[in-house]
Amino acid sequence: MSFVAEFNALPLGTLLERACAASPAAAEGSLGRSHLALADFANLIAPGATALLESMSQRSRALTQQRFGKVIRLFAPLYLSNECINNCRYCGFSRDNPILRVTLTPSEVRRETEALLQEGFRNILLVAGEHPKFVSASYLAECVRAAHEVMPSCSLEVGPMPVDEYRPLVEAGADGLVVYQETYDRRVYDDMHTSGPKKNFDWRLETPERAYAAGFRRLGIGALYGLADWRSEAICVAAQAQYLLRVCWKAQVTISLPRLRPCAGEFQPLTHMTDRDMVQLVCAFRLMFPDIGLVLSTREPARLRDGLMPLGITLMSAGSHTEPGGYTGAGNENLHHTRKGRIVELEPDELAKAGPAARATEQFNIADSRSASEVAGQIRRIGYEPVWKDWDQALAS
Ligand code: SF4
Repeated sequence: MSFVAEFNALPLGTLLERACAASPAAAEGSLGRSHLALADFANLIAPGATALLESMSQRSRALTQQRFGKVIRLFAPLYLSNECINNCRYCGFSRDNPILRVTLTPSEVRRETEALLQEGFRNILLVAGEHPKFVSASYLAECVRAAHEVMPSCSLEVGPMPVDEYRPLVEAGADGLVVYQETYDRRVYDDMHTSGPKKNFDWRLETPERAYAAGFRRLGIGALYGLADWRSEAICVAAQAQYLLRVCWKAQVTISLPRLRPCAGEFQPLTHMTDRDMVQLVCAFRLMFPDIGLVLSTREPARLRDGLMPLGITLMSAGSHTEPGGYTGAGNENLHHTRKGRIVELEPDELAKAGPAARATEQFNIADSRSASEVAGQIRRIGYEPVWKDWDQALAS
């Protein structure tokens, strides 16, 4: 049975009722269990569980140290292209946003990868918008090959594809695939994705399974918090993680916790998730899934990231740029607009206004602008070790 079938049968209403109304005693009962069910997870994210946040944090911290050691693994996103055929109301790369666009050539991708290698990274995430003309499967395979020649571990965050298009990417050296469902609320999903292939909710929901079938051995999932009620989203993420751990058992599963950030288009979050909610959610995920990697990006401010480091987070991006060419300026001479799938050159006055330092438009503003070495220094200061290389590959070899 695919996750879509399980998702459709999920008693979300009942679980959400718990997540909104469970008593501190119910949460305490769940906290005492060694194996948690979805109902326990719902109890732990309830407002009533905030009374137990200190105990949850201590348990989460101890569990993370026991399973992962005192280490935080670092990675960087490398944006290949900000072309996109979809209109997603919350994203700066949306098709109809009149932004500065570019698609890096494989040699430019190599240049960006080498810059990240110089900074110390041994693990990167190649990110691209979804556009069959500019970001084809063969283009992605070339980019993976170019990056993987020098970078030991490369994962992808790109538009969902069929299994047979994923296989060449695995053969080219990509070992992980990240796909956020964005929101698990079908009504909100439909409203947010106004045009383009991304409107297909089920196709996206089944992406991790197709990626696994193609040979990816790291699967990253998550919701984009700020679109629907965070507790409802978290229950669905937990349900999907449970399913993937059971069915795609040879893969490592990671959960990311992105919150919406300002971007081109000026979209405002529809729902609010406080920093305290974020802490509670990190702990609840860790207690529910002791061995799952939890990912925190530079969308979050430095202070919160530092506070969350020892609580359950195992992977962090650092020194990130969310525009193609962000690390070296690669591709800057080819900036353009794209209208109806066609490249439109910049007007001379636009070029003059943009100046020599013109850059492709970023996907969103980052909140933690520290360099990778500054983040690594902070990790050391709290008594943890920053790990740049991919430890799993080291173990496997
Ligand atoms: S969220 Fe992804 S699919 Fe949607 S516009 Fe942005 S890059 Fe494109």
